[in-house]
Amino acid sequence: MLPLSLRYRSFLESAFSDLQERPSLTWDASLSELDLQSLWFAGEFGAEFTTAEGKQISIRDYGIWNHASGPDFTGCAVQYDGKTLRGDIELDPDVRDWERHGHGANTAYENVVLHLYTTSSSARLYTRTAQHREVIQVLLTPEMLRANVRPKRTAEARPGRCSTPLREMGESAIAALLESAAQYRLQRKGKKIHAIVRIHGREQAIYQCLANALGYRNNQRPFTILAQRLPLRMMLKQSEAQREALLFGVSGFLEAVRYEDTEPETRLYLRAIWKQWWKQRAAYADWLLPPNQPVWQIAGSRPGNHPQRRVGALSAMLRYWKRVSAPLLDVNSWNRKAFTDTLLALEHDYWSQHYTLLATPSKNSIAIIGKSRVQEMLANIAYPLLTLEDARLWEDYKKLPAVLDNQKVRRATLRLFGEHLNAAKFQKRLFQQQGLLQIYEDYCLEDDSACSECPFPERLKEWS
Ligand code: SF4
Repeated sequence: MLPLSLRYRSFLESAFSDLQERPSLTWDASLSELDLQSLWFAGEFGAEFTTAEGKQISIRDYGIWNHASGPDFTGCAVQYDGKTLRGDIELDPDVRDWERHGHGANTAYENVVLHLYTTSSSARLYTRTAQHREVIQVLLTPEMLRANVRPKRTAEARPGRCSTPLREMGESAIAALLESAAQYRLQRKGKKIHAIVRIHGREQAIYQCLANALGYRNNQRPFTILAQRLPLRMMLKQSEAQREALLFGVSGFLEAVRYEDTEPETRLYLRAIWKQWWKQRAAYADWLLPPNQPVWQIAGSRPGNHPQRRVGALSAMLRYWKRVSAPLLDVNSWNRKAFTDTLLALEHDYWSQHYTLLATPSKNSIAIIGKSRVQEMLANIAYPLLTLEDARLWEDYKKLPAVLDNQKVRRATLRLFGEHLNAAKFQKRLFQQQGLLQIYEDYCLEDDSACSECPFPERLKEWS
């Protein structure tokens, strides 16, 4: 436990008197069924639930994400009524989908032990199998994954009401506030990663998190889905060519490109991938991600962040997986330099020269993973995972310079510090940026009153 994180936590809880009393959330309309399944499989809804009957149920094994017909997750286990029930789990957006999709008459659903849904009906509807066995039901709510369904708003880009008390606050108090908020943030991230470790094992969790980080801002979820559907253990058994075929095939990018639109070099590359993909395609046909909206967000991304390039980066990571993962597998093996150097040195025969499958080759070699992405991986994966296992790493984390070029950080700084003369002092280190982001998310993004009802400025007096 990081001690300063407790101070920020109680600061936050007393500001809202009870976090549970915040206005109830509605589902983010952009979350698709695929997103919901991916969030479930990553354990983001949690593992303990109350059923529609008001009883407790806990998930012991999240099973396998099924890519054939039948229930969504197979080989699962739940603890219910003092017993371990083994079977399948089905997740539907609406409780009525069970009957609408004919699952109740389909014997392939006979082993379903848990029916999850995100919308219930006004009348109580039971879930029954073809044999008329009643299936346990759980309603999933947005509160269960509050951080993931935070409304996609951005606060106004102008100094907020708190910029005045912050200007009057001593530098050491501001520094302590940012450090506390940064510890709180790191700890929350660490707990999430450790939850994935518990569900899927450490190596798969690392792979999933690194893939997620490659999604940059707009494509994190599709990258997580890709890593969930193409699990590490299976990928490491494939040849490099087969892995590449699976990554570009399942991501949908391979089939979206017209041969005749590409450069000669790209045609050679595509031919090599297709040579492998056509043999595997039938087995993965149901899993192809559509290459354009809504799964992949391509519009507005910089060429270097194009998801095709990032899929190439994931392939390069898998090629050197032992070296990439070794520093994260055991806290005692942690070596920041080795981790950073390995990622920065990754190369790929094709992607070191290309931004997308349609681009002309670049004259200069392009980094497969750049410095700011590595910094994100340190901030969001390595240190959250490891600092929970050895709190002494906090001091090492504090030394990391702030190199993130992040619009959200700039907005948070403007909101909180306004024209504060020493604002730059509080953004030199990565942990300070992370602290700022935490405050911005906890207060600015929760505020609907243009600052007037935000409790942060008043609470600051107590902090000082
Ligand atoms: S919403 Fe609150 S924390 Fe954000 S700028 Fe306004 S007063 Fe400050």
